[in-house]
Amino acid sequence: MIDFRLDPAFEEKLEWVRTFVREKIDPLDALIDEHVAPWNPRDKKAMAVVRPLQAEVRAQGLWGLHLPPELGGPGFGQVELCHLNEILGRTNWGPTIFGCQAPDSGNSEILARFGTEEHKKRFLEPLLANEIVSCFSMTEVEGGSDPTQFRCSAVLEGDEWVINGEKWFSSNAAQAEFFIAMVVTEPDAPRYERLSAIIVPHDTPGISFVSQPGMAGEPYPIGSHSHVRYDNVRVPRENLLGERGGGFKVAQARLGGGRIHHAMRVIGMCRKAIDMMGERAHSRITQGETLARKQLVQVDIGQCWIEVEQFKLLVMRTAWMFDNHMEKEALPWIAACKVACAQISHNVIFKAMHMLGSLGVSNQTPLARMWSSLLAMGMADGPTEIHQMFAGRAVLKNYQAAPGRFPTDYIPDLRARAEQIFGVKAEDFHHGIAG
Ligand SMILES: Cc1cc2nc3c(=O)[nH]c(=O)nc-3n(C[C@H](O)[C@H](O)[C@H](O)COP(=O)(O)OP(=O)(O)OC[C@H]3O[C@@H](n4cnc5c(N)ncnc54)[C@H](O)[C@@H]3O)c2cc1C
Repeated sequence: MIDFRLDPAFEEKLEWVRTFVREKIDPLDALIDEHVAPWNPRDKKAMAVVRPLQAEVRAQGLWGLHLPPELGGPGFGQVELCHLNEILGRTNWGPTIFGCQAPDSGNSEILARFGTEEHKKRFLEPLLANEIVSCFSMTEVEGGSDPTQFRCSAVLEGDEWVINGEKWFSSNAAQAEFFIAMVVTEPDAPRYERLSAIIVPHDTPGISFVSQPGMAGEPYPIGSHSHVRYDNVRVPRENLLGERGGGFKVAQARLGGGRIHHAMRVIGMCRKAIDMMGERAHSRITQGETLARKQLVQVDIGQCWIEVEQFKLLVMRTAWMFDNHMEKEALPWIAACKVACAQISHNVIFKAMHMLGSLGVSNQTPLARMWSSLLAMGMADGPTEIHQMFAGRAVLKNYQAAPGRFPTDYIPDLRARAEQIFGVKAEDFHHGIAG
């Protein structure tokens, strides 16, 4: 039985987080512009405001929200994380203040599982403390959804890997202390055993940036999703994470439960958009009455609310599967969350922007930031179509071809069988329209 009840002590924590977000993080979002990279620990001015807030979170035992106790986190289950991430999702800075921002959250999971003791000391510990940030460098210009297209390669020469090639949309690379690069080390192996994951410190000679792509709306050429060139970049042999050709297994480690944390935050983002719509509907008077009295506005708000509630239940159910050790069975559910995440946020935020009129499409409410982030929703971590396909295949596994010429639900056959079971003729029950 699925049980979503929460512990009263946890309810208290949730209340603390809600208040803290309202009183401290919402104002921080208003203070520091989103284009000031929130994840850059070298930004001393921003850190002077950020660090005391992080200290408050630590004092509450909530730092590294997604982490197990052995990595210094509170060890929450995924259902609990769903509630917490929903609150943080209303904000821009929330994940950074609570030490669970991507891509560092996933990269720390990789290092914890596959790193050597030295990697843990040099990279994992400062990463968990948010003293440094990191980057996951996998997508290439020629291929994102299809990793079998990747060309950036590493060749072992003596005790060093020599990396050559380019990577595209490596978020955060400019500030990152190290990259986890997914490179071809086994070109002749089967398609999904060609890649390996290798740690590349940022200051290694041979790394350069071709450009810094930004998101739509960010002024060109400013951006934080680097196009990186690796030119005879040499790193020690020990920087290999996992086995040679085991890159996909390593990448899976960063995707575990973390894959749905984003969906959890999007619930919060959508709720904020609905809050803004509700307030606006009661405030704006058009043709003698508030927008709230217009039936089309009621339909829009009602529909948004229904979609978000359905989405939350889907995410909670998936989270519950993780908490109940059903990671493998949860895979199609994760895909479903990712598809719904993109579609529902698109609908809800578009409606909210539209309802707020010119203000809604301006840069004077948080909606524009939400809109630009949702453009990536159906793309980062694989496009919607791939997740739909994956979910579809999982559903199809439950079925096989009909045994005869007609579908199993072909009524003449069903009726013949029913007549056999009950020993009567169906036509005996036909009394005609008049009875
Ligand atoms: C904000 C953001 C941050 C990102 N951060 C990182 C990062 O830190 N590190 C990193 O390595 N990458 C990152 N990426 C890249 C991301 O992983 C890729 O964009 C994604 O995998 C898709 O690859 P692509 O952009 O090459 O699109 P393509 O693979 O070219 O796909 C384009 C479109 O083709 C269609 N399509 C593709 N395959 C199929 C299929 N099999 N069937 C049907 N239709 C299909 C879909 O409509 C898809 O949207 C980020 C992307 C974004 C937007």
